[in-house]
Amino acid sequence: MSSNLDQLYRQVIMDHYKNPRNRGELDGALTFNLNNPTCGDRIKVSMEIEDGKIKEAKFEGEGCSISLASASMMTETIKGLPVEDALKLSNIFSEMMLGKEYDEGDLDLGDLEALQGVSKFPARIKCATLAWKALEKGVNQKEEE
Ligand code: ZN
Repeated sequence: MSSNLDQLYRQVIMDHYKNPRNRGELDGALTFNLNNPTCGDRIKVSMEIEDGKIKEAKFEGEGCSISLASASMMTETIKGLPVEDALKLSNIFSEMMLGKEYDEGDLDLGDLEALQGVSKFPARIKCATLAWKALEKGVNQKEEE
């Protein structure tokens, strides 16, 4: 990765960290809390799902810039998507975090691509995937109901 791109990515991450999108909680919506004790990150994701689509998504929490930026980017990306596609993106994101080749297909990771450098820092990968794990657990919880 060229250092210019690296710098651009860092700016995108800091922007989401300083100006988080979709911060807050949805009343009566599906919520899921997850912690990453190694880093001290705590993320709560809430989603409104209607007709198999994620109508609205918000997050609350505290932690490092990576975990909060990732949650901000995730809510921005999954809003309006069918649950199935959001879960597909979650898998694509995991592959990216593992440093694997990934294929977005007709989906778009958007700003999330700025996090690909995190794959070089194994200790931070959990920070980046925390919000996604909350999404997966939240969605599965709903299916079990
Ligand atoms: Zn963290």
